[in-house]
Amino acid sequence: MTDTAIQAPTVTRDLTALPKAHLHLHLEAAMRPATLIELCTEMGIEPPEISGFTEFTGFGQAYMRLLTVLSVPANLRRLIEEAVEDAARDGVVYVEFGVSPVFYAESFGSAEAALEAMTEQGEESGRRHGVAVGLMVTVDRTTGYEPSIEAAKLAARYAGRGVVGLGLANEERGYPAEDFADAFAIAKEAGLLSTPHAGELVGPESVWNALRVLQADRIQHGVRALEDPALIQELVESQVCLDVCPTSNVLLAVVPEITAHPLPALLAAGVRCSINADDPILFGPGVLEEYEVCRSALGLTDEQLAGCALASIESSGAPDAVKESAREGIRAWLAGEEPAGDREGRR
Ligand SMILES: [Zn+2]
Repeated sequence: MTDTAIQAPTVTRDLTALPKAHLHLHLEAAMRPATLIELCTEMGIEPPEISGFTEFTGFGQAYMRLLTVLSVPANLRRLIEEAVEDAARDGVVYVEFGVSPVFYAESFGSAEAALEAMTEQGEESGRRHGVAVGLMVTVDRTTGYEPSIEAAKLAARYAGRGVVGLGLANEERGYPAEDFADAFAIAKEAGLLSTPHAGELVGPESVWNALRVLQADRIQHGVRALEDPALIQELVESQVCLDVCPTSNVLLAVVPEITAHPLPALLAAGVRCSINADDPILFGPGVLEEYEVCRSALGLTDEQLAGCALASIESSGAPDAVKESAREGIRAWLAGEEPAGDREGRR
């Protein structure tokens, strides 16, 4: 601290240019609002009510109403194409969609046929927009044991063919991880990532169970881990990533307001965290806007934002080559270097 210390200029780096992986994004809720309206008009139906919820149950009902326009296979393909295009626009180099093929078993003939179509469309759109795409098949906590085993077996058959993980979503209260131990054992055996939701509606014990019973590689949300110092210690040591969604947590009353969000405290404790949008059509912000919220409302520095982006890459199911180029891109972003693509483009 001297009078002569030169103040470094404040650099506002463009968050679009920060390479990032989007790891907590439920496919149906990645639909563009305008597309929902357009598809409803095409089908001659009233747009479903998807706002006005204040807690998880109402939110879940709004989510399921999105399915009304997705009973047409072409509409599901369009959703994937646009969601991948939007990912590219936000500087996402790898997106891992949470998918539920069972929603489309009727329209595609079987859950497997639906998953096949999703992997095909993901690959095609990914190639077109320069985004790697992975799918996380999601087990619904409320549908019981047999469907969880079916989903895990289906996911396992597609390991290395578009599917990278097994997720666990929907109502956390009353549906503990223990009920899904067998499903996740099948997924792990097949080499898939275990990526359950936990620590959102239920406290630390839910996160402990995800780690111990489901061998979680990442936790979707997990923010309530902060209530247990021993759990924080465990997360720091294991470097299991929390796929955090700040706006979702505010709108579902997991935290009282954005400025009270635990992400800065989790990062300060050394927990690996990624930044995500969860359900953009229902909550508003996309992933780029979530990064902006973390900068403006939570005061994350560019070093912290780059750290979250790096965590998202390292903890993802992205191919090694994508991880390698993203690491270099994140380093260059922090160093203030121009992206290689821009330099070439101007020549
Ligand atoms: Zn979620």
